[in-house]
Amino acid sequence: MSCSFCHQKAVYYRRYSGEQFCRSCFTKSIEQLTRHTISRHKMFRPHDRIALALSGGKDSTALLHVLYSIERQYPKAQLSAIIIDEGIHQYRQEAIRLAQLSCERVHVPLHQFSFPQLFDISIDQLAEKSQAQRQISLCSFCGILRRKALNLAAKRINASKLVVAHNLDDEIQSMFLSIVRGDLKSLTAIHPVREQIPGFVQKVKPFCEILEREIALYAHFNDLSFQTLPCPYQSSSMRTDIRGFLNQLEYTHPGIKYSTYRNSMKLTLNQPQVSLKPLSKCNICGEPTTNLTCRACTLLQAINSTS
Ligand code: SF4
Ligand SMILES: [Zn+2]
Ligand SMILES: [Zn+2]
Repeated sequence: MSCSFCHQKAVYYRRYSGEQFCRSCFTKSIEQLTRHTISRHKMFRPHDRIALALSGGKDSTALLHVLYSIERQYPKAQLSAIIIDEGIHQYRQEAIRLAQLSCERVHVPLHQFSFPQLFDISIDQLAEKSQAQRQISLCSFCGILRRKALNLAAKRINASKLVVAHNLDDEIQSMFLSIVRGDLKSLTAIHPVREQIPGFVQKVKPFCEILEREIALYAHFNDLSFQTLPCPYQSSSMRTDIRGFLNQLEYTHPGIKYSTYRNSMKLTLNQPQVSLKPLSKCNICGEPTTNLTCRACTLLQAINSTS
């Protein structure tokens, strides 16, 4: 089996397109696909100060390398990375160490922030509180705090774009979850470029059209070091089941993840993203919110009042 592009020995067969790739052509293909997504959705401007949300996992580590290779051709843009330490013992430390190594390898500055520093509480401390004291699951709580932490961090380093490494699989799983939950706001928020809202650094998703398994392969072919250890609080969720279902569907119908994503985008892209109610400032932290108190502060207040 030889590469469809250079006739070297092929190591990967892309079922949905029928193309075969050698290592080098596969790497180029992932970089090209990402470049197309960036340009089709006009994600960046030449002077952008780009902050990548780095977790130390395969997706954000691979995106760091792809963005670095693209950004070298745009010397007026600046690329940096942000890592959030949620305070998860013996899990985040390894991720931070790997993220530091990855950033050093491509000479990208890394900015570190933590939940204890931003919110006075770590995920380990939150986990100690009984479930009854928490209004929602630990992962939902962690997600709310993480989104807020990333926005705060991006503002502190004066970024004009916040890049997240959500891949095609993540995006379709989120779509299905939004449909199951009847959450129209989340469904229309699955845009590759989030609406520009005062108080929020604009979020973009350059990997939204790349399959998770191809990102893993890109990381492997390029000898990237990333964390494989799962978070100790990770538990089976509806997302896990949807993931399995979609993988099975992709196996029997190659390309269905792409077509689902593209067609859903066509349905939602020209719709206005469900507008938020008018924004005001949270009466506790001063961050933008549609309510008197933002969601993160409401949850933290509830936890503290039961301590
Ligand atoms: S698995 Fe849950 S607790 Fe762990 S980092 Fe992810 S969202 Fe946070
Ligand atoms: Zn080749
Ligand atoms: Zn708040």
